[in-house]
Amino acid sequence: MFFTASAALAAVWWTTIGLFVGSFLNVAIYRLPVEGETVSRPRRSRCPKCKTTLGWKENLPVLSWLVQRGRCWHCAARVSARYPMVEILTAGLWYLAAISAPPAEWPLILVRVLVLSGLVVATFVDFDHFEIPDEVSIGGAIIAPMCALLVPSLHSGTYVAQVFSAEGHVGVDRFGSLAGCVVGMAVGWGILWGIGWIGTKIYGTEAMGFGDVKLMAAGGGFIGPGGVVYALMIAAFVASIVGVANMVRFYILIRGRARARGGHRSPRRALAVARIAGRYLPFGPYLALGIGIVLLYWNHVRVALL
Ligand SMILES: [Zn+2]
Repeated sequence: MFFTASAALAAVWWTTIGLFVGSFLNVAIYRLPVEGETVSRPRRSRCPKCKTTLGWKENLPVLSWLVQRGRCWHCAARVSARYPMVEILTAGLWYLAAISAPPAEWPLILVRVLVLSGLVVATFVDFDHFEIPDEVSIGGAIIAPMCALLVPSLHSGTYVAQVFSAEGHVGVDRFGSLAGCVVGMAVGWGILWGIGWIGTKIYGTEAMGFGDVKLMAAGGGFIGPGGVVYALMIAAFVASIVGVANMVRFYILIRGRARARGGHRSPRRALAVARIAGRYLPFGPYLALGIGIVLLYWNHVRVALL
């Protein structure tokens, strides 16, 4: 934390930009999976229901939604509360990135907010469509080496990026950072591909989406090989808790419905259905969570591992 006036001002600045970027991410989340639409076409955002092009007053992050009480001005269609939530989430992540490094290290902060924003898009598109857009995963994998070269401090916590001279530890230079990026991508790809391969052998169905493999490869480019391992542990831990909670939710739902119908569905059968229904969880959001946490906080812990 940096408690000077200029640092506070910088944090406010990053957070405000993040709020508006969050607005743009909503557009990306909505449009990227839609055939024929891109983030820049159509140019102006429209109401998904009545297709009215929205003016700037209707595009203000959070504020417009609050003033319009979650409805479209023109057709009164409900506007999901997720729009302002994504904006607040993005602003919050930009704030955390802003205070994760001294303001003078703005290139590092810039890379971090870029990665975090990509992760927000991947998360919500995966929740909606069970897929991760290539714009995020492949796009991330393409820019990762450039970021590593331009901002070596990105890999200051990556072991393979460290440079040693005869006198001892020197730090991280551009090429060390690039090495950390490339090895990170390879390990991210390899681990998830390997888990998918084993899962397919055991269950006979595709256990790991290819989108997850690509996302982890891109993530590895920013957090290095050790970071990938930590990110995966966080993802598996959180996903298993959510998975169990989801099964319990389905079990209660199915039992409740059976009881309402007066039927005699056995608890065992309800459990079997709940297990199948509860298994359908996207993994991308949890990978994104793991990558984000490691990116922001575990920079130094990573050295210990790889
Ligand atoms: Zn409308």
